[in-house]
Amino acid sequence: MQIVAADVIVSSPDRNFVTLQITTDEGITGLGDGTLNGRELAVASYLKDHVVPLLIGRDPHRIEDAWQFLYRSAYWRRGPVTMAAIAAVDVALWDIKAKAAGMPLYQLLGGASRTGIMAYGHASGRDTEELFDSIRKHLALGYRSIRVQTAVPGINAVYGVAAQPSADGTRYDYEPAQRTPLPAEEDWDTRAYLRHIPSVFEAVRSEFGPELPLLHDGHHRMTPIQAARLGKSLEPYDLFWLEDCTPAENQDALRLVRHHTTTPLAIGEIFNTVWDYQTLIQEQLIDYVRSAVTHTGGITALKKILDFAAQYQVKSGIHGPTDISPVGMAAALHLDLAIHNFGIQEYMQHGALTNEVFQQSFSFEDGYLHPGEQPGLGVEIDLEAAAAHPYQAAYLPFNRLKDGTVHDW
Ligand SMILES: [Mg+2]
Repeated sequence: MQIVAADVIVSSPDRNFVTLQITTDEGITGLGDGTLNGRELAVASYLKDHVVPLLIGRDPHRIEDAWQFLYRSAYWRRGPVTMAAIAAVDVALWDIKAKAAGMPLYQLLGGASRTGIMAYGHASGRDTEELFDSIRKHLALGYRSIRVQTAVPGINAVYGVAAQPSADGTRYDYEPAQRTPLPAEEDWDTRAYLRHIPSVFEAVRSEFGPELPLLHDGHHRMTPIQAARLGKSLEPYDLFWLEDCTPAENQDALRLVRHHTTTPLAIGEIFNTVWDYQTLIQEQLIDYVRSAVTHTGGITALKKILDFAAQYQVKSGIHGPTDISPVGMAAALHLDLAIHNFGIQEYMQHGALTNEVFQQSFSFEDGYLHPGEQPGLGVEIDLEAAAAHPYQAAYLPFNRLKDGTVHDW
């Protein structure tokens, strides 16, 4: 089999997605997700201008060789743009291989290690009442694990709170990237946040009881000692995890946090390679790997990270907000089903327009996801529907402190 074409499709149904479609001389096609939220066209160019010409004529079955070739031959390694482009190729090749084998992809990754994939959803509210409504709504949708984010008195717009107004006047919703010509400015006050959050979890636990798994995302905004304090103050509420408590670049920061708190820690959604996790995994400074298939070089690379993590009792918590396309989500679900050290899967539901562009075979029942039994990933793209929604510029917001200083968003 030979690759005869590779097309980069940038479309914006509910948000922007970068999709690679690889076509073979035997008529089998494969899809890969290269979406990098707020920087989509950089990946599209990396693919179109630098990667697609290298793919034509290659044997699509040689996935490991393609990965090593794209990673090493560029000389300039790592980084989110490069690794998202490699991921798009890698996942498309796995899709082709599984279709050629007539099997759902998880069968080629070792087969199912479980019957379903526990998913968590994103509940949020501007106040306690709205938060409780959001949690109840998620429970009614079938979610059995809930991420809790709330507004903070004294801060105008906080990451992850759906109902607060966004810069263009619409509901913020779960998607922080806004179709505005410049990034929206948000405000931040770590001390106000640290004072408020424990009282939120106190209220949620007394309303919903001790059993419901609860998660929280700190979105990289704290110093190590601030994160340690938050972790300690949340211990009575038995969190499933505290996510991204410090900026992720400094692995050593997590050592201080770890020594002060038994709240489980998850990190890694902005990581690109296993090297970003080396200290964190070897020293068991975290409990969950948060990488997305899309941003970590694909299934080939993320499976190696998770196999490495398994030796240190670190589990998966694959990134799955709506900026992971249905193609990237399907890749995550096949990997989730196959690996032994599965922890939990993030799952935000895509909008109606996205579901028109991408036809999907996965199911979500009673809190558990399953990728389905179609050969390959189980996702097909409707090219006409994709073309009806061209790219729209959109940016993630950024933060300033009260004195005007730019802060981590
Ligand atoms: Mg996060």
